[in-house]
Amino acid sequence: MKQKLAILGSTGSIGVQTLDIVRENPGRFEVSLLTARRNWEQLARQAREFDAATVVIADKSLYAPLRDALADTDTKVFAGADALEQAVGGGDVDTVVNALVGYAGLHPTVAALEAGKKVALANKESLVVGGAYVMRLAEEKRAPIVPIDSEHSAIFQCLAGERSPVRRLIVTCSGGAFRDLGREALASVTVEQALRHPQWQMGAKITIDSSTLVNKGFEVIEAHWLFGTPAERISVLLHPQSIVHSMVEFEDGAIKAQLGTPDMRMPISYALFFPARAVRSGERFDFLRHPQLTFAEVDRAKYPALDIAYDCLRRGGTAACTMNGANEVAVAAFLARRCAWLDIVRTIEYVLGRATFVERPSLADYAEANAEACRLAHDFLGLQS
Ligand code: NDP
Repeated sequence: MKQKLAILGSTGSIGVQTLDIVRENPGRFEVSLLTARRNWEQLARQAREFDAATVVIADKSLYAPLRDALADTDTKVFAGADALEQAVGGGDVDTVVNALVGYAGLHPTVAALEAGKKVALANKESLVVGGAYVMRLAEEKRAPIVPIDSEHSAIFQCLAGERSPVRRLIVTCSGGAFRDLGREALASVTVEQALRHPQWQMGAKITIDSSTLVNKGFEVIEAHWLFGTPAERISVLLHPQSIVHSMVEFEDGAIKAQLGTPDMRMPISYALFFPARAVRSGERFDFLRHPQLTFAEVDRAKYPALDIAYDCLRRGGTAACTMNGANEVAVAAFLARRCAWLDIVRTIEYVLGRATFVERPSLADYAEANAEACRLAHDFLGLQS
């Protein structure tokens, strides 16, 4: 039986690599749903190549060109965020790959879990924003969440078959674009520099989040929710080569690690085939070509975002949702050259200091906290809402 896939954000970095895995494995997958925000031309090309049953374009103003581009096919075309959520929960989907970016990923994750689908989760913001709600729902609906994020895929693989409690999760960190730059130089870094990640080719938002280490902070929160590990048992270790994708330490002192060259197709393939593994061709990892694997402490004064994320995780409630909302606005402003790189974390601090805190949030409370964080971030940066 073919696995029926919904790929949310199929035109992005993870989406395109998910389609590479589909291409690598003829006969194993059926593409039920593909979605994009605005890139209707690429979405139409993908729909043709993979004979997608349905496509959704989030930006409703682009419905007509997409519909016209697929007029001679059987692909059904819809537009808007509501259509996306409806299609995700539809009967023709086994696995939802959530490769959306930002807060926009939360509601589709919820819709997929509500419908009892397996979720292959790249959109870490779903868990950063609403981890408590999402994990409760997954358990209630017995809907599995398999991580795509490489660090969490590594931990997931290290935990497979283990029953004993974990002593520590060790999340590795490449250090982002500015790891070799002194603290004084950070005041004047440019968008182009921040987008030059030393190891990974990724979408713009996560690449900026990697440069501030907001991404690593979010991964600590994501690890907490996925594996039920408290904040004090999750540590972050700088590992510039990005070969050890993360590790788990057990109570007997043993440490398990998952290694490989930096290539997101590996964790994507694992998430799609779990609990089996795919047969993949291509270059194999060669230890002799990587004779040095090094590890170091993260400079927490240079990267305050990491401790801010730990604080948000300890506070719980809507704190991390607020951090995420502020970060999204500030990253977009930085990419649009409307604020400096250092303003990203300043915005987060300002917003967290003023936002309303809800201890036991409902889904509606997350939406309100996100909207409030966006408003406050706009105010701080002097942007039009
Ligand atoms: P990209 O920016 O490359 O792609 C995002 C995708 O989502 C695109 O298809 C985009 O459509 C669509 N999209 C963006 N915003 C919206 C919206 N508001 N509504 C509907 N669709 C939207 O992101 P990445 O692939 O880099 O990242 C996706 C997720 O995976 C993120 O959460 C990221 O943190 C996580 N991740 C990514 C990794 C990577 O290597 N890229 C590694 C680990 C995790 P369009 O093309 O039309 O704009």
